[in-house]
Amino acid sequence: MQQTSYISLGSNIGDKIENLNKSISEISKINGVDITNCSSLYITKPWGKTDQDDFINQVIEIKTDIKPLKLLYKFQNIEINMGRQRSIKWGPRIIDIDILLYGEQSIDSEELKVPHPLMLKRLFVLYPLWEIAPELILPNGTRIKEVLDRVLTREGGNSITKI
Ligand code: ADP
Ligand code: MG
Repeated sequence: MQQTSYISLGSNIGDKIENLNKSISEISKINGVDITNCSSLYITKPWGKTDQDDFINQVIEIKTDIKPLKLLYKFQNIEINMGRQRSIKWGPRIIDIDILLYGEQSIDSEELKVPHPLMLKRLFVLYPLWEIAPELILPNGTRIKEVLDRVLTREGGNSITKI
C-alpha cells in the first residue's frame, strides 16, 4: 500500500541549491517513489553545531510503497553517490536526506527512528513542512501549526529565511 512520507533535504557545502535539485532528481528516479509536493527553499542557520556555513533546507512529500528501512538505504546511496562523507556529527554536508514521517508509522530501531526524533524542535523542518502540509496532524496528535508556533515563540524566526 502506498504511504505518504515527508522527507527533509539539507545542504551546506558547494552549490547548495544544485545539490538539493540533484537529490530531488535522484529521488524521483527511485522505482516506487512519486514526488507529490516540494516546499520552497529556506536559508537556515546551522543547528546543533553552529561554526559552519548556513544551510539550504527543503521538505518534500512523496508517495511510496517501499518499506521505510529500504527507503532509508536508497536515500543513503544517493547521499554517498553525491559525495557525502560521514564524519562530524551534525557537521557540514553536501546533502542530508532524512525521513521525517512515514504514514502513521512509529519506528524505533538503531538505524531508523520515525517520526524523526528532532523534527519537532527544528524550525528548518517545521516551517517547510507546514508550507506543504498545513493541515498535517503529527503522530503525537498535535497540529503542525501548533508545534511551529510554539518553536517560533520560543526562538523567533531569525534563523530561517525563505528564498
Ligand atoms: P543527521 O541527519 O542526524 O545529521 P546522518 O545523516 O549522518 O546525521 O545520520 C545519522 C544516522 O541517523 C544514520 O546512519 C541513520 O541510520 C540514522 N537515522 C535514524 N533515524 C533516521 C531518519 N528518520 N532519517 C534518516 N536517518 C535516520
Ligand atoms: Mg541524516
